[in-house]
Amino acid sequence: MPYRGMYFDSTYLLVILGLILGLAAQGLVRYAYRKYTGVRSEKGVTAAVAVADMLSRCGNDTVQVQPIAGEMTDNYNPGNNTLNLSQNVYGSDSVAALGIAAHEAGHAMQKYDAYALLNLRSMLVPAVNIGSQASMPLFFLGLVASLDPLVTLGIACFALTVLFSLLTLPVEIDASRRGLRMLRESGYLNAEELSGARKVLIAAALTYVASALAALLNLVRLLLIAQSRSSRRRS
Ligand SMILES: [Zn+2]
Repeated sequence: MPYRGMYFDSTYLLVILGLILGLAAQGLVRYAYRKYTGVRSEKGVTAAVAVADMLSRCGNDTVQVQPIAGEMTDNYNPGNNTLNLSQNVYGSDSVAALGIAAHEAGHAMQKYDAYALLNLRSMLVPAVNIGSQASMPLFFLGLVASLDPLVTLGIACFALTVLFSLLTLPVEIDASRRGLRMLRESGYLNAEELSGARKVLIAAALTYVASALAALLNLVRLLLIAQSRSSRRRS
């Protein structure tokens, strides 16, 4: 069996490891989500009403809270300042719904406070979109055509997407921290309910950790492939 083929196969294990990590984290999120979707909060205020109130208490009353189709599609859009809550969250008073909605409200507060990392992340988006599309074609074209600069450029583009996924981690953790603080200060969840909401948000943060790890593993794979190629040429 030629060495080259074996090498490509073994680095693929890194991609598979990344996929497994991602699936495990997603399983954990679904478990926590299902569990705390079934737990109604004592106060009984819906997620949509609670976040609108919590944001206006912080002086941030221009955010538009609206329902959005789908499951776990909740997001805050800084472009038009809308906080979009999925069907199962918007009108729900469950611990999971309030936790998820508060996390998105945390993102709205990041924008309101001009949180530096959020701005940096938004600034990177156009470059990351181009980089993630171009990295693999450049890399493999460089390999096939034996053009080192293309290989390097492909790796650099991919490294940009890795940097982006690493930057996502502190932004997401900060949003959860802000959200949980608002829930506690407003009293929409009691202490026991808060710990449930925290579990849902920790599980959600783990999916970002898993995708950052997967991106890192992919970067290592590209570096290994490039290195084996150049050392083969030298020998
Ligand atoms: Zn988030």
